[in-house]
Amino acid sequence: MTTVTMMKCACERCLCVVSTADAIEKEGKYYCSQACADGHKDEKGCAHSGCGCG
Ligand SMILES: [Zn+2]
Ligand SMILES: [Zn+2]
Repeated sequence: MTTVTMMKCACERCLCVVSTADAIEKEGKYYCSQACADGHKDEKGCAHSGCGCG
C-alpha cells in the first residue's frame, strides 16, 4: 500500500497540488517544481499550464 499525500505547492502564488512523493522537497516544504523550490530566482512559473506563479 502506498500512502500518497497531496499538498499544495509551498510557493505562495502557486496553485499546483503535488504529492509528497513527486514533489521537490526543500527545507521541509514541498514544491511542484525546481523553479518554485528556488523561489523563482531564475525561472518564472513552474511549467504547469494554468499556473501563474513566479
Ligand atoms: Zn505551479
Ligand atoms: Zn511557484
